[in-house]
Amino acid sequence: MNEILAIVVPCYNEEEMLDYTAKKLKDKLNDLSSKVQISKKSYIVFVDDGSTDQTWEKISELSKKSSIFVGIKLTKNQGHQNALLAGLMSVKNQCDISISIDADLQDDINCFEDMINKFHEGSEIVYGVRNNRHSDSVFKKITAQSYYKVLRILGANIVYNHADFRLMSNKALEGLSSFSEVNLFLRGLVPMVGYSSSSVYYTRDERLAGESKYPLKKMLFLAFEGITSLSVSLLRFITLLGVAVSLISILMLFYILIRHFQDKTISGWSSLIVSVWFLGGIILFSLGIIGEYVGKIYLETKKRPRYIIEEITHSEMNGEL
Ligand code: UDP
Ligand code: MG
Repeated sequence: MNEILAIVVPCYNEEEMLDYTAKKLKDKLNDLSSKVQISKKSYIVFVDDGSTDQTWEKISELSKKSSIFVGIKLTKNQGHQNALLAGLMSVKNQCDISISIDADLQDDINCFEDMINKFHEGSEIVYGVRNNRHSDSVFKKITAQSYYKVLRILGANIVYNHADFRLMSNKALEGLSSFSEVNLFLRGLVPMVGYSSSSVYYTRDERLAGESKYPLKKMLFLAFEGITSLSVSLLRFITLLGVAVSLISILMLFYILIRHFQDKTISGWSSLIVSVWFLGGIILFSLGIIGEYVGKIYLETKKRPRYIIEEITHSEMNGEL
């Protein structure tokens, strides 16, 4: 019951937030370790994601002042997901549990206790889940909610209203490290790691200082990345479309023949329109079949692990009869 906790914080142009965030997180760590929930060797990792302001200077300053702050500087801006992964992979095998949280502390650091308790109860992954979206604009609320629903329908297994605020044990980090994909959408990937998991619920605050580092363009990109990196359903959709159009073309054939024999068509229309529908259907269907193979190639190139072993009863497997 004396685990080393590593808090991982991706930072992109967060000079306005850093001092506040560092102090809050440090106090929290002290608080947690005095309650003997975690080891005194616990620490905080700030990952500078190629910031163009004083973020890295601030991080280096902090790490000079106290060894509980560790700085990792990426060579350039790689985006939130990659920065977070860099942090998580750096703490792997250097901690017992990790918690990832945004630098603006919009997520509730008072959840740490609950998260750690859930870990002690046996969860290797604990998701921080927002219980409402009051701090979001109406636009973000609607788009986010429909987005989660679409992802679900497309077959991606993601936790509703959970962003990247989560606890992962070292085992879960090991599991995550065996995914080698480049198109990263951690929210979708972490559930694929498996293990027993649970959630804690909290209310998300507004950002205290600075502005959102997720402008609409980046958000749309992340959303699209989520759909295309997790599921090949969109490709499959083409096949379905092809089948649907082919079926419609058969119905159209009847309609066209009726019109033809009623003499209500100009010459050439019937053959033309039948070919348009029929060929359209065939082309879409063939594209769908090709899509099906492309989807397979896509999944193969990701080299995802086919399984992750949780436990083996014997360290050496040589039976004695
Ligand atoms: N972030 C990052 N790289 C980027 C964009 C954002 O590391 O290219 C970090 C940012 O510093 C913050 C977190 O990702 O810690 C989430 O960003 P933000 O709070 O601006 O997003 P929002 O809460 O508005 O969705
Ligand atoms: Mg934020």
